[in-house]
Amino acid sequence: MRVVVIGGGVAGAAAALALRRTGADVTVYEAHADPAGDVGSFVSLASNGLRGLDALGCLEPIRDAGVDVPRQRMWSAGGRLLGDVPRGRRSSDTLHSVTLMRGRLVGALRAAATRAGARITTRETLTAVTETADGVTAEFASGHRDTADLLVAADGIWSTVRGILDPATPTPEYAGLYAISGVSSSIDGDTGVFNMTFARNGAFIHVTAPNGEVWWSAQIADPTEPDRRGVTDAEWLRRTADLYRAEAMPSTVIAATTHLHPPVIMHAVDPVPTWHTGRIVLVGDAAHPVGAGQGASMAIEDALVLARSLRDSATIGDALTRYESERRPRIVKLLGTAEDNRGAKKAGPARRRLQALAMRVFIPLVYERATAWLYAYIPPAP
Ligand SMILES: Cc1cc2nc3c(=O)[nH]c(=O)nc-3n(C[C@H](O)[C@H](O)[C@H](O)COP(=O)(O)OP(=O)(O)OC[C@H]3O[C@@H](n4cnc5c(N)ncnc54)[C@H](O)[C@@H]3O)c2cc1C
Repeated sequence: MRVVVIGGGVAGAAAALALRRTGADVTVYEAHADPAGDVGSFVSLASNGLRGLDALGCLEPIRDAGVDVPRQRMWSAGGRLLGDVPRGRRSSDTLHSVTLMRGRLVGALRAAATRAGARITTRETLTAVTETADGVTAEFASGHRDTADLLVAADGIWSTVRGILDPATPTPEYAGLYAISGVSSSIDGDTGVFNMTFARNGAFIHVTAPNGEVWWSAQIADPTEPDRRGVTDAEWLRRTADLYRAEAMPSTVIAATTHLHPPVIMHAVDPVPTWHTGRIVLVGDAAHPVGAGQGASMAIEDALVLARSLRDSATIGDALTRYESERRPRIVKLLGTAEDNRGAKKAGPARRRLQALAMRVFIPLVYERATAWLYAYIPPAP
């Protein structure tokens, strides 16, 4: 079977790797050049995503490229500890959550896919898709065309293919949050802890790496989408420092900043009704930008379920139906969690006080049971 994958991010590279393991002939087309090591700030992989990487045979290089983060601590704006839980896993999981630069994750997955025999062509932007009973043809801005048995659309939250499959599909909308992220020089803090402060102007996350660097991300609540035009790094840093000036821990981290990543405007998409036709299928953020620190892990799970469905089904159409019926219930459940998480980050003073109280009472009692469905998942081997 010949497969064309559109997009070489986490979902595209993981799909290429999983499909190669089933013997498919795979070509990935990616609009941009290879990611440099530290582009795109950091992402965290939870135990479900790490098990997926293990099934794909590339857990170790990705752990080596990141930082093990066994614990997560939640803090109030005033610096009070609200909860201390295992990060992205159940306490019985021996796999610890890994945090790494997104560029390094994508680079490691692309390298593994290439070693497995996938072709990855960069600087090719898909513009059109035509599906017939015999195949599917992708057309690119360069004039290049490629025909395959299956087209896997891993082209992210702004997916072109999603709109081609269904012109009435929902489009991304500003989620009321934007992220300013950076790296700070060494401060006095525990390594291997994902700290999340529910601050007055949005959540503030920081992780101290073993080399002493602090990776931080301010997820700033703002009902109006900020205009990024002409705003310098120095100005973003000044604004961020001002928004978190009342919170001691975030202020200390921001003051020690040595490098700033470009700002990211956060978007959400209503549930996407159409995930596939007979020969075209959406994976990763193209199908379901979930957020909640699970987007990359879900993209890896998608890749494995798609490959297994193709391996075990009589026709491509049957496989895509099977893929959707297995993935959609889990994604729908996660979208509810993601909405709650965004709400918690945007809470006003009264709601923040109630949340803080609820966290202190309920986290020790129910956190592990409430999240087990997410972290205990065992993805299928391709
Ligand atoms: C601020 C922020 C923090 C996050 N933190 C986490 C986290 O901690 N943990 C986590 O798991 N997830 C996190 N996520 C989400 C995670 O980054 C995404 O869910 C994940 O990267 C999705 O991967 P993807 O491959 O589906 O999409 P993308 O990473 O967007 O990749 C899509 C690729 O397709 C290419 N492309 C697009 N259009 C075309 C075209 N027409 N032709 C060819 N190529 C095309 C793009 O260039 C891109 O390389 C975070 C997201 C944000 C915004």
